[in-house]
Amino acid sequence: MTRVGHGFDAHRLVEGRRLVLGGVEIPFERGALGHSDADVLAHALCDALLGAAALGDLGGHFPDSDPRWKDADSMRLLAACAQLVRERGYAINNVDGTIVVDRPKLARFIPQMRARIAEVLELDSEFVSVKAKTSEGMGYTGDGSGIAAHAVCAIEREEKRER
Ligand code: MG
Repeated sequence: MTRVGHGFDAHRLVEGRRLVLGGVEIPFERGALGHSDADVLAHALCDALLGAAALGDLGGHFPDSDPRWKDADSMRLLAACAQLVRERGYAINNVDGTIVVDRPKLARFIPQMRARIAEVLELDSEFVSVKAKTSEGMGYTGDGSGIAAHAVCAIEREEKRER
């Protein structure tokens, strides 16, 4: 049985914060505002994994109000979500994420992001895709006020889905 999951996340971009995407720190004059390190790609991937197994969402498992996750490395959250999925008997087949922002340009950081995500998910990087798109000046991802990410994943378990 194969199941797919979808995730989405968005954060404000502000001065005085780091910009961390897929576990990689990106040099830029602004960073993403959030309780954890605000890694928008990691959070979208977390929700995709949880969604594939119908395990709710990231906020439900790791609430913003919990001081344990203040400035947390979101790669730890991603590892924890992968663990939750595996505990249900699933293997992660592949993940695919898209970051949406006009600036900074991200192409040169994508191999590092793929390698880091693959390491955390214990996958070969062949099964980890990361893409970056612009929105041509439109909306919060185009005017510099925010950044968004979308993600999907497939997970597999050797079992029929009938009750
Ligand atoms: Mg988030």
